[in-house]
Amino acid sequence: MVSLSFSSAAQDNWPKNGQVAVSLSYDDALNSQLDNAVPQLNEYQFKGSFYLTLSSPVVPQRLSEWRAAAEQGHELGNHTISHACRADMPDRDWVASQNDLAKRSVAQMVDEVKLANDYLYAIDGKKSRTMTLPCGESQAKDGDYLPQVKEQFVAIKGFEAVSLNSIIHVPAERSGAELIAYLLAAKDQQRRLVNIIFHGVGGDYLTISNEAHKELLSFLDQHRNDYWVDSYINIMQQFSNH
Ligand SMILES: [Zn+2]
Repeated sequence: MVSLSFSSAAQDNWPKNGQVAVSLSYDDALNSQLDNAVPQLNEYQFKGSFYLTLSSPVVPQRLSEWRAAAEQGHELGNHTISHACRADMPDRDWVASQNDLAKRSVAQMVDEVKLANDYLYAIDGKKSRTMTLPCGESQAKDGDYLPQVKEQFVAIKGFEAVSLNSIIHVPAERSGAELIAYLLAAKDQQRRLVNIIFHGVGGDYLTISNEAHKELLSFLDQHRNDYWVDSYINIMQQFSNH
């Protein structure tokens, strides 16, 4: 994209007159994302961001489908290899001892994040990448690993370098109307970016039904002048160009 100048005309170019950027993203590399989310996004020609936990068996089992999604314009993002989270938080029985972030060092996490980027490169051939932090956490046993991995990414979701008055929603068991309400509120609150982080779509866990997901996409399709849907990396690269 050519940026002519910072005249008012150029500033109006993006986002268009108060248009809110919307990043639809999908964490953890789940079957239902390939089965349901990707086909729905393609139907509306929206680009989503899929943050793969690379230890998920769904990555090697369906490698060609992840690769195809990337070729269709969807983003494959870094959600680490082992999804290390703090086991000392509530409801964390599922965190295996070896994946307890409280037992990992910053150096181990930096290595793991780099390896995850290398693995993703082997899938889609891309060198620019974004990330979502597993459980939104980065406090390892000897410090915060986020500042040490930041330089590997165009952006880390929720930690954008530019101020976008952004918000993150992580919906589970929400109706289409409730999802659409996120968008309406963002417009009222003059946000420039809304992040919706899904997990299961029509299956798996922290699930949104296929119907609710489709209702959201249909609303976005009907309001393209108000909301600009793109992959998180495309949105963040646009912002950094302005
Ligand atoms: Zn996750």
